[in-house]
Amino acid sequence: MGRYTGPTCRLCRREQQKLFLKGTRCSTEKCGLAKRDYVPGQHGEAKARIKLSNYGLQLREKQKVKRMYGLFEKQFRRYFKIASKTKGVTGKVLLQLLERRLDNVIFRLGLATSRAQARQVVRHNFIFVNSKRVNIPSYLIVKDDIVQLKAKDKAMAKIKDNLEISKDRTVPSWLEFNPAQAQAKVLRLPEKDDIQLPIQEQLIVELYSK
Ligand code: SF4
Repeated sequence: MGRYTGPTCRLCRREQQKLFLKGTRCSTEKCGLAKRDYVPGQHGEAKARIKLSNYGLQLREKQKVKRMYGLFEKQFRRYFKIASKTKGVTGKVLLQLLERRLDNVIFRLGLATSRAQARQVVRHNFIFVNSKRVNIPSYLIVKDDIVQLKAKDKAMAKIKDNLEISKDRTVPSWLEFNPAQAQAKVLRLPEKDDIQLPIQEQLIVELYSK
C-alpha cells in the first residue's frame, strides 16, 4: 500500500480528533475539523452517532496513533512487535518507541511545525546525531544523544521561522534544547505522561493481541 495522498484533514475528521498533521493551520479557524466536525463521506454525520463496538474502538485508537505519527500499517505493527518483546508494559513501550523516532524529536523541539515537515528536515540531511549525519526519520534516539541541526542560510531561515511559529509549544522535559545552537540533548527516554495526548494504548495492545 502506498503513502496516503488524500486530504490530510480528512484523517482528523475520521478520528474525530485533532491530530495536528498540518502544522500552523491546525491552531487556526481554518482547521478542517473545526469547520466540519463530522466523519467524512456520505452519511458522515449519521456515522458519528453510531456507537462503536469494542473492536471498533480498538481499531480507531490504532488508526489514530498510526496517523498521528505518519506510519504505514507494516511499520506500526513492527513497532508493536518490538514493544511486545521488550521488558515493560507493551503499550507504554510502544508509545516510547514512537516518541523516540528522530522525526518526532525534531517536531517536539519545534524545528518543524508538523511531523511530516520534520521528516523532510531529516531527509534533507540537516540533522546530526552525536556529530554524525542521520537522514533516517525512523532512527531511534537513546539517552544522552546530542541532536543538532545544521543547514545553509536559506534552509536555516525557514527553520528559524518554524521555531518562531512553535514558540508556544513546550519542549518536553526529556529533551534539553538550546535554540541558539539548534542543538538538543536527550536527558532521558520519554514516558507516557510526556506525550500529553489522549491515547489509550491498551486498546491497541488488545487489538493486536487477538
Ligand atoms: Fe487536523 Fe490540522 Fe487539518 Fe485541523 S487543520 S483537521 S488538526 S490536520
